[in-house]
Amino acid sequence: MKKRILTGDRPTGKMHIGHLIGSLRNRVKLQYEYDQFVMVANVQALTDNFHNPEKVKESIGDLLCDYYAVGIDYDVTTVFIQSEVPQIHEIFIYLANFATVQQLSHNPTIKTELAQKGFEKSTPLGFYIYPIHQAADICCVKADLVPVGRDQAPMVEDCRELARKFNQTYGVSVLHEAQALFGASRNLPGIDGNAKMGKSLNNAIYLADTTEELRKKVFMIKTDPNRIRATDPGTVEGNTIFIYHDTFNENTAEVEDLKERYRRGTIGDVEVKQKLYDAMERQLGPIRERRREAEGKKAELLERVIENNNRVRAIAQEVVDQMKDAMKIRFS
Ligand code: ATP
Ligand code: MG
Repeated sequence: MKKRILTGDRPTGKMHIGHLIGSLRNRVKLQYEYDQFVMVANVQALTDNFHNPEKVKESIGDLLCDYYAVGIDYDVTTVFIQSEVPQIHEIFIYLANFATVQQLSHNPTIKTELAQKGFEKSTPLGFYIYPIHQAADICCVKADLVPVGRDQAPMVEDCRELARKFNQTYGVSVLHEAQALFGASRNLPGIDGNAKMGKSLNNAIYLADTTEELRKKVFMIKTDPNRIRATDPGTVEGNTIFIYHDTFNENTAEVEDLKERYRRGTIGDVEVKQKLYDAMERQLGPIRERRREAEGKKAELLERVIENNNRVRAIAQEVVDQMKDAMKIRFS
């Protein structure tokens, strides 16, 4: 039997190039080797968008088009919708006994996100517990591998620990300890220089952006703030524009030359940005084309996904039954 992958995205907007390098490329690469499940995390999206259900609903179509555009093959990857698999919530409540409030309060990703969302003083419980709910997502198909961005590392670690504790407590091997698979060594920063590009952070280059939008955003990217003139020596390390070059410009000789001249102060920002735009357009152009094609098939893609929910429900119900057996609470 093929090993399983579970990943997902929150339907909170269109997908960006951080997703592409953090997670999407790995999914496309691994989908034929593994039995891959991709979850549209609409319940999780509501935890910080509960006042805006329309946005969450509308964004599902965007995700489906983005998946198609990057090469997710709907014939081999099982894309499904979280809210259609209520077994996940049941798994969640059983796992919750094995998490502590203290552990959640120390989760570095949660801490950052609470600050970003202004939730420090009044934290929705639903948001606070999302790492455990995410562990339930991973457990519902007994995933072996989870391709995610670096920001999700603590979540996958929590999930492994929960699965281990559950199994140890009841002397069973019901839950798998999933491995994280990171697409890049760090999160892709936003065009504003923020450590993470995010859908909700207004600092993203989207897969759906037109070539004009791409160009405009590349020219907005924050560079070395201490470099005022083209003749000033600049810093390359940690400079967003060069992180993007390293990530998207496959012409490494060109990148080395640009870095060298930047350090010496013999190049203007315009040339560095123009070359980045050219390199990114080479990669994003074909994705944009396929995305346009997907827009015409949105309804068809959604129908596919709705059918898949049956398969996932059946798999997840087996996990629920095994967990209930272990906990001696199964009577039918
Ligand atoms: P939101 O701001 O609504 O949380 P997001 O941009 O963080 O949106 P998610 O749907 O939360 O996107 O994340 C989906 C996947 O993409 C996760 O695996 C996450 O780790 C990865 N990811 C998100 N942003 C980045 C980034 N900047 N670099 C690399 N991977 C990323
Ligand atoms: Mg996120």
